[in-house]
This record gives sequence, C-alpha cells and structure tokens, in this order.
Amino acid sequence: MKFVTFRLGGERRIGVYEAADQSVRPISMSSAEATVGVGAVLGRDPASLELLSAIPLDSVVLDAPFPRPSRNIFCVGKNYREHAREFSRSGFDSSATMGEVPKAPIIFSKVPECVIADGDDVIIDPSVSDAIDYEAELAVIIGKGGRNIKTEDAMDHVWGYTIVNDVTARDLQGRYSQWLIGKSQDTFCPMGPIAVTADEIDVANTKMRCLVNGEIRQQANTQDLIFDIPTIIATISAGVTLVPGDIIATGTPAGVGIGFKPPKYLRDGDVVRIEIDGIGALENRFVERRS
Ligand code: MG
Repeated sequence: MKFVTFRLGGERRIGVYEAADQSVRPISMSSAEATVGVGAVLGRDPASLELLSAIPLDSVVLDAPFPRPSRNIFCVGKNYREHAREFSRSGFDSSATMGEVPKAPIIFSKVPECVIADGDDVIIDPSVSDAIDYEAELAVIIGKGGRNIKTEDAMDHVWGYTIVNDVTARDLQGRYSQWLIGKSQDTFCPMGPIAVTADEIDVANTKMRCLVNGEIRQQANTQDLIFDIPTIIATISAGVTLVPGDIIATGTPAGVGIGFKPPKYLRDGDVVRIEIDGIGALENRFVERRS
C-alpha cells in the first residue's frame, strides 16, 4: 500500500494513495492522531484501517509522510562504490583519509526540522553556502523498534520506504569534520511524498534516478549498495535502540554535483526530481533567499 500525509481544509490527514486514478482515500482518524503523519499507522494492520471516499490528489496539499520525525534522520554516507570514489576525490570529503570506500558504514544525521514536502522550496542562502548539492536516496521507515537487531532479523523491523533528497552544503560538509551542519540546513530534507509498505518493492533490486532540470544526473540500482539495509539496521541498532518512525536514508549513488568538473552546484530556480521505481517521485525547486 502507498500512504501519503496531506492537508485538506487546513487539517492534517493521512490517506491511501491510488496511482490508477490519482486519488487519495483518507483514513478515518482524528486530525490530532494524524499530526505525526504516516507514523500514526505504524503498528496497525493496514487491512483494519477504515478508508473514506476517494478525493482527487490535486485537491489536497501534500506534506512529507513524516512532517516532523520524532528525532534525527539517520543517514549513511558513501554507500555506493562509484559515489564513494567521486566524493573522496572531490576535495570536500573530511573522511577521505579513511579510504575511498568505507570499511564500516559512515552514519550521520539530519535534524527533524529540516524536513519539507514534495513541491516545497529548498532555500539556497548565499550568505551561508555557495555549494549546495542534491543526493537521491531510498529511505527506510522503521516499523518495529529494537536494540542489537541481527542482520537476519532486520527486515522484520522495516515498515516501508520513502524517498529522501539528502541536500548538502558541500562547503560546510568539508569545513567541519562532522557533517551535521552541512546536512541539516533549514529545508535540506525533502521527503516523500509517498511512503510504501515493505511488500511493495524489492529493495535489494530497485532502480532510482535523479534529474536536475530534466537532465539525468544519477541512475542506479540498490543492488550496488556497499552496505545493504540489514547491515545498516544492525550497525545503528548495536547499542542504539531504534524506535518506530525512525527514518534511515541509505546513501546516494554517483552523479551528484560535486562529482563533475567543475562541480554542478544547484542554483536559483533549479528543479531536482528523484524517482524510485515502485515508490514514486519527489520534486523540489531550489530558491535563493538571503537571510
Ligand atoms: Mg547522503
């Protein structure tokens, strides 16, 4: 099933997205329950949800599936071989001394406040950064929490998947050895709009692409991940208890702006579109705004 979080008449709702007729069937629940977005249906049997009459998708305002995650979004760095190489050679990789391809997953995070919806603007603030880049990523949605989760059990903890653009200020990422500031700038985490349940896609073999102003920049398959999803879950949950609603962005493939010579940073008016087969598409415009 495909879920979306949206607003209708100023109230937040959650619904089931029907691709065939571009509609959404709202789930019967109070707007208070729906505040956390798709998080409100985690742990519930989808078959038990009461669905209301379908309404056209274009009559609602989409939110991110998790408009404000309960805590930081976990992210994996340098998790596709070709991207690890392009980034290590870019001169902005403060982890480059550890080798081009990491020996263990690089885990960092983005603050929840930087999450925005499909169609929202990503702000380029030239007083802070002049090197803003896109990163198309498949994101895991944790449905069942746990600690010290074994790789063989890891997929039992996955509720589903969504799309994340791990927007990055490369200059800030390079300046500080910890990546959080460069990754957590306001508006730097476009997410969604669709969250699919785990049965909808084969995450070991899923294609994704990223287009900037219609030009294909990234094209990859999740089978090229260096550390697969069970390994990522086992790594993070070793001593850190995962909770339902945790989001894990699994890393971006080659083709980011920093991989070009000269780099192709995002500029005012650029539109970044990420497509992941079986999930959908996430599109955001980048807009310059001085603070
Ligand atoms: Mg990333």
